[in-house]
Amino acid sequence: MPDQYDVVIIGGGPGGYAAALYGASAGLRCAVVEKDRVGGTCLHRGCIPAKQLLEAAHVRRTVAHAADFGIEVGEARVNWETTIERKRSVVEGLWKGLSGLMKGRKIDVYEGTGTFRGGGTVHVARNDGSEVTLEGDAVILASGSVPRTIPGFDVDGRYVLTSDELLDMTELPRTAAVIGGGAIGCEFASTLADVGVQVTILEGLPKILPGLDGDVANVVVRSFKKRGIEVRTGVKVTGHEPAGDVTRIQMEGSEPLEVEKVVVSVGRRPLSDSLGLDGTGVEVDERGFVKVDQTMRTSVEGVYAIGDLVATPQLAHVGFAEAIVAIKDILGETAVPVDYGKVPWAIYCHPEVAFAGHSEESAKEAGFDVAVSKHQFRGNSRAQIIGETDGLVKVIAEKRADGTAGTVLGVHMVGPWVTEQLGQGYLAVNWEATVDEVAHFIQPHPTLSELFGETFMALTGRGLHG
Ligand code: FAD
Repeated sequence: MPDQYDVVIIGGGPGGYAAALYGASAGLRCAVVEKDRVGGTCLHRGCIPAKQLLEAAHVRRTVAHAADFGIEVGEARVNWETTIERKRSVVEGLWKGLSGLMKGRKIDVYEGTGTFRGGGTVHVARNDGSEVTLEGDAVILASGSVPRTIPGFDVDGRYVLTSDELLDMTELPRTAAVIGGGAIGCEFASTLADVGVQVTILEGLPKILPGLDGDVANVVVRSFKKRGIEVRTGVKVTGHEPAGDVTRIQMEGSEPLEVEKVVVSVGRRPLSDSLGLDGTGVEVDERGFVKVDQTMRTSVEGVYAIGDLVATPQLAHVGFAEAIVAIKDILGETAVPVDYGKVPWAIYCHPEVAFAGHSEESAKEAGFDVAVSKHQFRGNSRAQIIGETDGLVKVIAEKRADGTAGTVLGVHMVGPWVTEQLGQGYLAVNWEATVDEVAHFIQPHPTLSELFGETFMALTGRGLHG
């Protein structure tokens, strides 16, 4: 007899474990099948380790400027092995915490590879060699994604790395190229440069961080250049040729670039091919994403898909939100679908980027008549106190017929700690607040978030400091 559950979940990443935690707290009996460790890409090979390394880079920058604050510490030396050890220990601690939380909610975790067999049946090839069949009233597919690669750059762990290998690298190279100037590529470029690696970003498109508000992206590019990160755009890489300690990256129309490491950061592909979906009726699109409706239902009744496996923003918190939608639907409750155009985005490179809602460009493309206000951190007292004045807050609002600024369409930020400041902007966008409503709120002084308040106030036609 198969083991019986209300919900069987394949994959224990942010999507899968969130579904189990939320489902269990609503009284559902949940099983999670995980072939590696619960926590998924985010905890073991993504968000958490990448941010831990970025934090090391932050500490190095702080120490480098300590003398400006009257603190003399001598030259900062990087011990990357210790950095990686700290990353390992933070990940381990969070993994133990998550495992304990799941155990506490009486979620059964099956360590092994899950294959969907149709209906509510999931077969598990356990890591210990045994097998078990699980039966769920509902099944949630949450197998996530893996790094994409490109022709001519086979991942060998020596010259060519993806995020997976980079996050475990115990020795720093002197030189590195990051292929792909998206969010993850820029985070890695920023980290490596700040710990002393000579970094070049090679991006095929005309600009890095495509899709970002132009004013915001420009601040990042300027800072990268100031810190010695070479940004080459419109570049087509064709392959590489190892030569001892280095490898030569070939590019169309320019001389090869010689570096010790090549980091391929060209996006992630959904891991649907190994789920056994053929013949089950679960539809997959041409890129491998499982097709779902607004409540995360696949084409087969009782089967859901969430997280990086579906064609929605590949973000851990989007996976959390989709997990809640799926579980509410399973419970027969009304689930509010995720509004993908308004989810919060955070990029943790230096300077940080955070935004929700329309950029100026996308609002105009969508046909809005817009009122825009932008304010620079250089005028903000806290930014001057901490010595981080690069960056801005930009608010995009709908322009009313009388010319005044109405509903907030987007809040875009770049600068110090903006990933921690976006919350108010996210709420304003998603609550469809008007500019005057937000401008009315008090911001504590002196804080970085005062710039958020000033930017809104300016849109009302009156301001204080801005
Ligand atoms: P995953 O996290 O990929 O988890 C899927 C799980 O399923 C894995 O544990 C896998 O082992 C398991 N699995 C797969 N197939 C099977 C099977 N057949 N049987 C059993 N188990 C299976 N997002 C953010 O929001 N913020 C960030 O700052 C951020 N930074 C990132 C940095 C990097 C370097 C990377 C690579 C990603 C980052 N992301 C970030 C993205 C984030 O990690 C993903 O969006 C998130 O992990 C997706 O969650 P998921 O549950 O859908 O999939």
